[in-house]
Amino acid sequence: MSGTDGIPTVWVFGDQLNRERGALAGRQPGDCRVLLVESEALVASRRWHRQRLHLVLSAMEHFAVELRAEGFEVDMRRAATLGQGLRDHCAEYDVERVVAMEPASWDAHAVLERLGVELVRNDLFLCHYDDFARWAAGRKRLTMEDFYRWQRLRLGVLVDRTADGGTQPVGGQWNFDHDNREPPPRDGRAWPPIQRFELDNIDRAILDRLPSTTFGADPDGTWPVTRAQALTRLREFIDHGLAVFGPHEDAILAKEWKMAHSVLASSMNIGLLHPAEIVAAAELAHRRGAAPLSSVEGFIRQVIGWREYVWGVYWLWMPGYRAGNALNATRPVPPAFTGAAPTDMACVASVIRHVDEHGYAHHIERLMVLGNLALTAGVEPAAMTAWMHASFVDGADWVMLPNVVGLALFADGGKMATKPYASGGAYINKMSDSCKGCRFDPKLRTGPDACPFTTLYWDFLARNADTLAPNHRMARPLAAMRNLRDLPAVRERAVEVLQRLDAGTL
Ligand code: SF4
Repeated sequence: MSGTDGIPTVWVFGDQLNRERGALAGRQPGDCRVLLVESEALVASRRWHRQRLHLVLSAMEHFAVELRAEGFEVDMRRAATLGQGLRDHCAEYDVERVVAMEPASWDAHAVLERLGVELVRNDLFLCHYDDFARWAAGRKRLTMEDFYRWQRLRLGVLVDRTADGGTQPVGGQWNFDHDNREPPPRDGRAWPPIQRFELDNIDRAILDRLPSTTFGADPDGTWPVTRAQALTRLREFIDHGLAVFGPHEDAILAKEWKMAHSVLASSMNIGLLHPAEIVAAAELAHRRGAAPLSSVEGFIRQVIGWREYVWGVYWLWMPGYRAGNALNATRPVPPAFTGAAPTDMACVASVIRHVDEHGYAHHIERLMVLGNLALTAGVEPAAMTAWMHASFVDGADWVMLPNVVGLALFADGGKMATKPYASGGAYINKMSDSCKGCRFDPKLRTGPDACPFTTLYWDFLARNADTLAPNHRMARPLAAMRNLRDLPAVRERAVEVLQRLDAGTL
């Protein structure tokens, strides 16, 4: 796309709303024009959670307003597709060339290449996928822990200099997981509050035009739509959440949708916050004694470890990664997840209530409740990925594919996780407060009161025994399954559980 006498157009996408990064870095009003396109095809492509769709559309419009206030000429337009938006823009303006930051998703990257858009490096992450590929080259296994330590050293995060000029992790160890696996506190304590941002005219106008196909509660100002709001959320977390984040980061409380989780991912994933400033703020809090190392290390591992690792493996393994289905799972997403039917499973009901009310569930709710049930029931990876992408405020292709295909559903055959994250009701009973009020019993695997998680855990092992047998980490669970005297009855109960899960009567 090029013209002759015009100025360049900088095309900014809805997940790149950062003034200092990518193709906008160093730009001044007058030396370029800014294009933002709201694609009707993208809006119509999924059954979005209302807060997810509202967040992106509102943040784009607020970003356009801020750029105009700075003096930029901004073309914010709606079009049938992204490509049509660019064609309409080029027909209306004298465009010298079009520049954009590399998109975060594979499909958008392919679209921009087809359109001949000039791409500059995506610097919204601390490790670009080209650098990740260099780190990965020649390694037999790409373990997150190895990547995370490499990031810590490379970025100088939570590392100290030793007397002999070397480096060591702050506190003498890399990982404080053992301090961060406490069960949920039952003392009814208050969790760090967060500010709800007042909806303005832009927010209300977008709310009025959200399509009827969307689901979930209306936006209530929970999710920052401007950089100023995102910075407020970051400050709230550093001041009130970080110190108490660690110990219970893996616990679930039915009535606490976020506990001490940062809820910063939605802001990072659309560009309002950069991981570098989040990590710097967290590390500083520890260095000045405001937060214990175990909490700070656990949080930083999520940001520079897990988040950047899934981004790296996504680009390393796409496009084939999308088709992963190593366990040949074909079940649709359960009606209990989509809201098409209520459920008696108390843990699922509380997590789905969090999703419905906030477009959010924290990582253990996603992995050990929703992902675990989808894994053991055999939900099709592509369907589960699509549902999660549309249902969470921080959803994105690069987020959901590795987390669902690789981590939750073991659908990549073990490229990412060393064994399936399958568990019965005992794990959920230990790490949540859901079971005591549930109509099922986590200890039972047969009979009408058997916990569906417990029944399906054993059935999952029996169903996939041949596929999982070569994995030495599965030897003990498989042996335990084979030793079950009541395995035939468990498998019979599993047939009923799966039928009721599909029918929305469980
Ligand atoms: Fe969930 Fe089973 Fe516990 Fe009920 S008994 S809350 S279904 S784990």
